[in-house]
Amino acid sequence: LRAQAAIDRHARLVADFPSPGISFKDLTPVLADAAGLDAVVGALAEHCAGADLIAGVDARGFLLGGAIARELGVGLVAVRKGGKLPPPVVGIDYELEYGSARLELPAEGIAFAGRSVAVVDDVLATGGTLLAAARLLRQMEARVHGLAVVMELAELDGRGTLSAGLGTDVPVWG
Ligand code: IMP
Repeated sequence: LRAQAAIDRHARLVADFPSPGISFKDLTPVLADAAGLDAVVGALAEHCAGADLIAGVDARGFLLGGAIARELGVGLVAVRKGGKLPPPVVGIDYELEYGSARLELPAEGIAFAGRSVAVVDDVLATGGTLLAAARLLRQMEARVHGLAVVMELAELDGRGTLSAGLGTDVPVWG
């Protein structure tokens, strides 16, 4: 509730970004407010409790993921857009509304197998990004503990996409 109040107070709606007709929810002012950051990170950390690794999705998921992991006393990994990580990488290509995108993880140096990983991002829209991140973690033999976002655009039914793609036993917190 404290998190919702901070979102209501500080989130900005930007018309026609990134393309005409899209109304972009900008949560960066929520995180720039000390009480807002505390409330949002606290709420997400409660959801993610029990995971032993936090995966933050490029790029605003990095900001949240670091704070959540520190709060829970667990490790952190960045799920990066294609081409940012040094080799070797493991990647997944997925479709966006217009065009395609790619997410990558390090293929060496991090033990994913058997880990319980919570994936965090700022906004759940169509669900394509979180679905790809979760699939990539499963490809690395991690268990997806759950998916946590600050805000979801319910009209796009990202939850439906996620439960169709991952099964209904993966919780989505938003
Ligand atoms: P999806 O794959 O359609 O669910 O889009 C989610 C990804 O796009 C996330 O990484 C979000 O950060 C970003 N995104 C989509 N819509 C918005 C928005 O309105 N505000 C902020 N980020 C958004």
